[in-house]
Amino acid sequence: MTDRELVVVGGGVIGLTCAFEAAANGWRTTIIDRDPGHGAGWAAAGMLAPTAEAHFGEEALVRLLVAGAQAWPTFARDLARQSQIDIGFEPTGTILVAKDGGDRAELRRIIELQRSLDLAVEDLRADDLREMEPSLSPALAGGALLPGDHQVSNRQLLAALMDANEALDVTFLRDEAIRASWGSQSATVDLASGRTLRTGALLLCLGARTSLIEAAIGHLPTVRPVKGHILRLRSDEPLLGRTIRATVRGRSVYLVPRRDGELVVGATVEERGFDERIQAGEVFSLLDDARRILPGVDELELVDVSCGLRPATSTNAPMIERIDDGPVLVATGHYRNGILLAPLTARIIIGELEGTPDPASALASAAGSRGDHR
Ligand SMILES: Cc1cc2nc3c(=O)[nH]c(=O)nc-3n(C[C@H](O)[C@H](O)[C@H](O)COP(=O)(O)OP(=O)(O)OC[C@H]3O[C@@H](n4cnc5c(N)ncnc54)[C@H](O)[C@@H]3O)c2cc1C
Repeated sequence: MTDRELVVVGGGVIGLTCAFEAAANGWRTTIIDRDPGHGAGWAAAGMLAPTAEAHFGEEALVRLLVAGAQAWPTFARDLARQSQIDIGFEPTGTILVAKDGGDRAELRRIIELQRSLDLAVEDLRADDLREMEPSLSPALAGGALLPGDHQVSNRQLLAALMDANEALDVTFLRDEAIRASWGSQSATVDLASGRTLRTGALLLCLGARTSLIEAAIGHLPTVRPVKGHILRLRSDEPLLGRTIRATVRGRSVYLVPRRDGELVVGATVEERGFDERIQAGEVFSLLDDARRILPGVDELELVDVSCGLRPATSTNAPMIERIDDGPVLVATGHYRNGILLAPLTARIIIGELEGTPDPASALASAAGSRGDHR
């Protein structure tokens, strides 16, 4: 065991981003994961959406999400320096649309909440929608432009993070952690292969599986899986210029266009434990809702159907903290916003490792990250 040595358990978007920043700051870093570069972040849509993700009663979380969005441009530039992979960071804004009068009433309530939190929102009439996005259904009742909600190509992001970590000599152990234990100065991780690692700093980024790893000493956060189905369709030319989010008969659906003609349609929100089966009914509902907003969906090629498990806490806010002032840190529970919050999470973790807390760690605490891990 040497100084400035970090072991990261979990190579999803959070673990990879933290490892990348740690390695860039001179930490000798090892990632343990059987299948790094995948996890829920592989299924995700890649929306960076602090405004659309603002929910009633979660004002402190929204402040964290806004700080998360502000961290993105610098992070995208830093990552581009280490990896040649284009992550498709598109600051093009998002449009919220309502299908009918009932959906419009709900949209108005959401817009009021967003404005009360000082988030930028511009009202759009049905005519404005048609002008901005001619492929949208002519039957929509109205909408709003969210100029601060953007997107990144999440699978390209994961590929770029793998690439950048390799370029920085991060070690990948294709293994599974089965137990973590720690004292005041060092931590130990037992692996499924029978190997044991001892380290001065251990970072747990297991996403929805955080609560499954055995902790011989100390406490681990309670995180539950929230399943989401998501589809990838394709056309030669993009049908949309911006992300569209809609409410259709009370259900949410979003359509995220990529430059290369891919259209991501998501996502269901299901409490089904660790069930990762693809269910026909959920795929049907997503397609049915999507075609009511964008009729051209019928003509697209369906290229990918997947689902992932969002890591959720009881407060919907992530936990990004050091446990009991010891050698173990945790970054988990990012729920619907792990892609958005990955760069800011890494900054907070690096601040903890270096003993120079990042100002955003106070935002994470206020959003509910403390108090939930016992
Ligand atoms: C359908 C869907 C759509 C989404 N859309 C968005 C979006 O548009 N924008 C956004 O910001 N977020 C989105 N999210 C949420 C986002 O994907 C998650 O918040 C994020 O992936 C959490 O990252 P993570 O690294 O904590 O967990 P994960 O991405 O799940 O990664 C966890 C990693 O830990 C590894 N692991 C688990 N157990 C062990 C073990 N015992 N030992 C070693 N390794 C282990 C796994 O193999 C995995 O690689 C979406 C999620 C879903 C499911």
